[in-house]
Amino acid sequence: MELRGIGIGQGVAVGPVVRMSDPLPEPADQPSTRSQHEEMERTKRALSVVAADLNSRGARAGGSAQDVLEAQAMMAEDPSLVDDITARLASGKTGERAVFEAFATYRELLVGMGGYMAERAADLDDVSQRVVAELSGLPAPGVPDPGYPFVLVARDLAPADTALLDLGAVLGLVTVDGGPTSHTAILAREKSIVALVGVQGAVDLTDGDTVILDAENGVVVSGPSGAEIADAQARIAARAARINAPALPGALSDGTPVPLLANLGSADGAAHAVELGAEGVGLFRTEFLFLGAAAAPSVEEQQEQYVRMLQHFPGKKVVVRALDAGADKPLAFLNDADEENPALGLRGLRALRVTESILRDQLTALARADAETDADVWVMAPMVSTVEETRYFVGLAHELGLKTAGVMVEVPSLALMADRVLVHADFASIGTNDLTQYTLAADRMLGTVAAFQDPWHPAVLRLVGEVGAAGATLAKPVGVCGEAAADPQLAVVLVGLGVTTLSMSASALADVRAELAKYSLVEAQAFARIALDADDAAEARAAVHAASQVSAQ
Ligand code: PEP
Ligand code: MG
Repeated sequence: MELRGIGIGQGVAVGPVVRMSDPLPEPADQPSTRSQHEEMERTKRALSVVAADLNSRGARAGGSAQDVLEAQAMMAEDPSLVDDITARLASGKTGERAVFEAFATYRELLVGMGGYMAERAADLDDVSQRVVAELSGLPAPGVPDPGYPFVLVARDLAPADTALLDLGAVLGLVTVDGGPTSHTAILAREKSIVALVGVQGAVDLTDGDTVILDAENGVVVSGPSGAEIADAQARIAARAARINAPALPGALSDGTPVPLLANLGSADGAAHAVELGAEGVGLFRTEFLFLGAAAAPSVEEQQEQYVRMLQHFPGKKVVVRALDAGADKPLAFLNDADEENPALGLRGLRALRVTESILRDQLTALARADAETDADVWVMAPMVSTVEETRYFVGLAHELGLKTAGVMVEVPSLALMADRVLVHADFASIGTNDLTQYTLAADRMLGTVAAFQDPWHPAVLRLVGEVGAAGATLAKPVGVCGEAAADPQLAVVLVGLGVTTLSMSASALADVRAELAKYSLVEAQAFARIALDADDAAEARAAVHAASQVSAQ
């Protein structure tokens, strides 16, 4: 039996299924035998015990798992939820029931919002279950420990579970729910766990079934044949060899260099990225400095954070992106929450320009950090859509002492004008996540249009080709720093379209490095032509895959 889902990363795993234990039963809706005060006290205690536990799991896990767990801890103590629970206790309900109902109401609200918010519903369910378990004196539902390596099958995994998964015991993960932007997917990607999410048919898998998880092809094979298992084992061994191979600089088989850089969201992942062979940073997202803050941090605070990250990359290129606020990353002090269409609104460079002091402070902090370290600092602006904006940003960055300034190509208009844009910018970096969203007119956060959000679409690739060609003519570097760079076969196509560097989450570096090394520039260019000739993303992917099989013979 074959089940389909969304594969995260490129891994393969084989092993017996162990299902996540069932959620706690719904607490009975019967009047409490305790006083209202007593119920209130024990409920408050349970909420704070759970919040503290989530915070301490976060501290142990570190990285972006910590952010997720801390956000969950905040859910447990959210004042409006506590108000709702209090009101329910006042009507005579038990703590267990009041917590269950209040969280369920909030959950419905999130699901109704769709997309990214709906994918947070699993996080909320987990908090609710933990509080109810704490109140009932039961263990919190969590990952089973059968005493042997296993493939974990769950409806969805709570961030608290994913963050602390024992990577020695869990061979892989299959979830029924979850999309490509769910926390399970994000954390699995970060921890290099072989995972498939959104596998509807996984409800039919039972404990002890042997399965092959093939994230690369987005399929789970249940009850595989001996030959299928042997093939999967060979792929696992080949991948392990790739990952353990010394991390040489990225290059095609003919020696054409393709520097492989890391995407970082804070200084925390820098050391690990270097270990995995990152040749620098192609996208340092700076939003973490601003998110949750009431006002922009000072020049000195920013400088300190930039120095902390830059110190890991002496002599290496580090591309820092100016604050990208708005749409999926809103900031109260910079964005207008009432915009009807924030993805098309005052976001990225547009927002910075109307509050130029924030941009000036950030560029000043960066120039000072550049002077203080040996890293080669480049800076770029997000959400640029015109030549005029390019000239504005590059001019300002140069004026404030940054020698290499460029633009992200995330809007089709900029890609189409690349030959003019690159006259003024020192480099371009293509953000394929947004470029795909704007080219296909499909909100990247919305599950219902996720099928359009595919960077293999020839329309997206044509735009990449425009930028690559302009870069070649004007001798300006052209990078890709969107998720597309982490897809090994698409990475080869991008290079064939004229892209000179690729930047991705560090866990993807080994697979991309190995794939690039298989083909010459002439072959990469042939793959690019094949992809451009397709009618849609699926055809482009399949045609390049078929051509690569021929080329490998
Ligand atoms: C992109 O849009 O491709 C990109 C790299 O930026 P972000 O995902 O942060 O919007
Ligand atoms: Mg973007």
